[in-house]
Amino acid sequence: MHRITVIGGGFAGLTAAVAAAEAGAKVTVHEAHHTLGGRARTAEGPYRTNDGPHALYSGGPHWTWLKQRDLLGPLAPIPALEAARMRLRHHGVLRRTPPFAMLKLLRHGIQQAPVDSDFMSWATRIAGEEAARAAAHYSAVALFHHDPGALSAAFVQERLRRATKLPPEAHYPRGGWASVIDRMAARAWNLGVRMETLSRVDTLPTDGPVVVATSLDAARRLLGDDSLTWTSGRTTLIDLALRTRRGDAFAVSDLDSPGWLERFTAQDRTLAPAGEQLIQGQIPIAPYEKKADGIVRAEELLDLAFGGWRERVVWRSESVANGRTGAVDLPGTSWRDRPAVDRGDGVYLAGDQVAAPGVLSEVSFNSALTAVSLALGHRTLDLKQA
Ligand SMILES: Cc1cc2nc3c(=O)[nH]c(=O)nc-3n(C[C@H](O)[C@H](O)[C@H](O)COP(=O)(O)OP(=O)(O)OC[C@H]3O[C@@H](n4cnc5c(N)ncnc54)[C@H](O)[C@@H]3O)c2cc1C
Repeated sequence: MHRITVIGGGFAGLTAAVAAAEAGAKVTVHEAHHTLGGRARTAEGPYRTNDGPHALYSGGPHWTWLKQRDLLGPLAPIPALEAARMRLRHHGVLRRTPPFAMLKLLRHGIQQAPVDSDFMSWATRIAGEEAARAAAHYSAVALFHHDPGALSAAFVQERLRRATKLPPEAHYPRGGWASVIDRMAARAWNLGVRMETLSRVDTLPTDGPVVVATSLDAARRLLGDDSLTWTSGRTTLIDLALRTRRGDAFAVSDLDSPGWLERFTAQDRTLAPAGEQLIQGQIPIAPYEKKADGIVRAEELLDLAFGGWRERVVWRSESVANGRTGAVDLPGTSWRDRPAVDRGDGVYLAGDQVAAPGVLSEVSFNSALTAVSLALGHRTLDLKQA
């Protein structure tokens, strides 16, 4: 029987643990924190905020894999009335529909954007500068970068396509991602996986294959390998609980600069006490900007879409997610150029900044399955690569 050690008990680590145990391996997971989940944790208490993921994209390979194993759990569908309250800020005012020229970039059958060009140059040639900029800013919801137009056109196009699909791909596990993590942990437990929390690993074990399913920063330190770097975003996060008032927007996408607000209680009432609404804003900021710059932009959007919000605040929290929102690919690079999963000597990387396809946590998922396949000497597991 194969023995595998998994370092990190986030979405990647749990995926690797379940996949390896299903393939018959004896698996031990070490997680530094006292709970599993990593960035997919959901806060305890009256306001069930997520540190990381809110949306599970149904077009991704993780969706089918989780569903086949009954690990998705109950979902929180967006009521039609709430979906109709989606707004876009363009030229300083809220509107319901995207600028017409932007639709040229979303048409069915549009050419595949090139890897080598930046998105703004490519999209401007197709739809004009204004539409290209609006589309780039919209895509920030799935890439969390302050200047999406400067990234690889192919990279941004894929996220734009996934984030604008109808019916929407974004689905929301009821109670936050913690409910998916709990189910994955229960499955791992039932398969005999040994899970050790409060177990930070400082030295790589040498008694068998190891899947390092930490952030890329932590993997760099653990492996002592300075080449383990990749570009990511920097985003101001603002979480707010507001007293309920009819007519609040469901979500606001800023087409004037990258930014997104969403009232998550619109689809999931369990996230805040009765009579209150939970809203999260994510405003990507440039390297030279401060958290406060993102807060100013978030408040501008709140002023437009959540009338009287300042008087309705009952709880508020702010933070910056620095390099925690997954890989972004610059022009001339694709996921294939990121740090390889196979590090040699039986060490494999899994996470959202390594060489695997997909959007956001799908990269963690795909790399986890690749890592386990390689560790077990299988050519493929249940791996569907884009
Ligand atoms: C603000 C924000 C919004 C996001 N929104 C979405 C979204 O809508 N949809 C989506 O799909 N994705 C989203 N993501 C991305 C998603 O959160 C991540 O891709 C995913 O959770 C990463 O999982 P992971 O297991 O690769 O890494 P992590 O979750 O970081 O897990 C790594 C684990 O390793 C542990 N660890 C680190 N070092 C050690 C060590 N030495 N020993 C033992 N354990 C260690 C850590 O404690 C952690 O638990 C978002 C992220 C952020 C920050």
